[in-house]
Amino acid sequence: MSQRSIHIKTFGCQMNVYDSDRMGGLLTLGGYLWEPDLRKADVILINTCSIRDKSEHKVLSLLGQLKPLKDENPKKVIGVSGCVGQRLGRSLLQRVPHLDLVFGPDSVDRVKELVDEVVLNGRRVLETKLEEGGRAYSQPTHVPTRPSRPAEYLTIMKGCDHFCTYCIVPFVRGREKSRPIHEILEDVRGFVAGGTKEVTFLGQNINTYGKGTGETLAELIEKTHAIPGLERIRYVTSHPRDLGEDLISQFGKLEKLCPSLHLPFQSGSDRILKAMSRLYTRDEYLLKIEKLRAACPAIALSTDVIVGFPGETDEDFEKTVEVLNRVEFSMAFLFKYSPRPGTRAFALSEEIPEVVKEERLARVQQLSLRQIERENGRLLGTTVQCLVESIDKKGLCYSGRTVHNKLVHVLNSGPSCQGKILDVEVTETNGSNVKGYFAGAPRVVRTA
Ligand code: SF4
Repeated sequence: MSQRSIHIKTFGCQMNVYDSDRMGGLLTLGGYLWEPDLRKADVILINTCSIRDKSEHKVLSLLGQLKPLKDENPKKVIGVSGCVGQRLGRSLLQRVPHLDLVFGPDSVDRVKELVDEVVLNGRRVLETKLEEGGRAYSQPTHVPTRPSRPAEYLTIMKGCDHFCTYCIVPFVRGREKSRPIHEILEDVRGFVAGGTKEVTFLGQNINTYGKGTGETLAELIEKTHAIPGLERIRYVTSHPRDLGEDLISQFGKLEKLCPSLHLPFQSGSDRILKAMSRLYTRDEYLLKIEKLRAACPAIALSTDVIVGFPGETDEDFEKTVEVLNRVEFSMAFLFKYSPRPGTRAFALSEEIPEVVKEERLARVQQLSLRQIERENGRLLGTTVQCLVESIDKKGLCYSGRTVHNKLVHVLNSGPSCQGKILDVEVTETNGSNVKGYFAGAPRVVRTA
């Protein structure tokens, strides 16, 4: 049999990007060839996100567009992995007759076996088993099928035990289970040997990493900190209730731990927080912020907010605005509530009219943008250190991040800046954009 080609299209969060990378690695190691053009691939996998209704629609629409390809070549294999695969399972196979394979996030490491089953036996395959939580899971270490990037993401745990009432994650990614520290450190060392300077650990509720295994996130950070050649460490996503003193105090002490943290507060109203089952109050959240700033005054904080949760009154919403005003986040990811079937909030009746949700969203977006502009304005004329991660297609503009997770575009360049941590003089800020030049480098004036 000649070698088959694969293409993986990814929707959703960084964890999905990591899973797609991993599946691509495992399939190419297993003899499949990577095909950059989705339409030409023998095997097309769509790694999906289910967090919002809109994300699911995008997947169904893409599946519709792929039908003519399958009609033209019935041997083409089309598969759906990730959260939509897990959530819809058999009903997705029934609804989309040209779909060959559906599997969930817990089967990522079995991707080759599942694809082979379709390719070799011509069977339609469904795999949506979720592993049990509260224990360690092992995963073969980093699959080195591509060069290391300057900044790498690494998933260290799966699932979530929280069951916030609006969230589909525990249903599609199961209960918490964590990878052992020694395996994670081996992966990080592998990345660093390939030139990586920064690692971001990923987990849905990362503060409770190690639950049931006797290991903790603080311990992992400390051991990662000791790896020579690694310069920066980050982790995401924290939960305000589970961010403990051990983790907060590390921000003041460990120099490789970047002074930036994503801490979603979702709503400033205790009534709504309770309805969301977030397990903290507004004051408890603000106290965590105070402690973080006491441990590390320059820490950059980002957050998530949901507006228009069922029953959210004008007064509730104003409390959210108040928290945004008070904390002044460096970045806020702002969303309208999106009802997800299967969650507890789906059954709540006090739905907020779309127009009200839109108004509220626009208001917090404007507020957040003003705050970001103000913060960026303070960077004008200063020099910041950036880890240069990428260069644009024309080779004219580099992109990098500061320790505070600020994206900076660097307008001129010498060769081979990628992967280095360099000083950048900030010369322009425009809205959320920050631009500058490498310190000491000649400034190229470009004309249109
Ligand atoms: S903690 Fe995060 S991932 Fe877990 S249920 Fe709540 S929102 Fe979802």
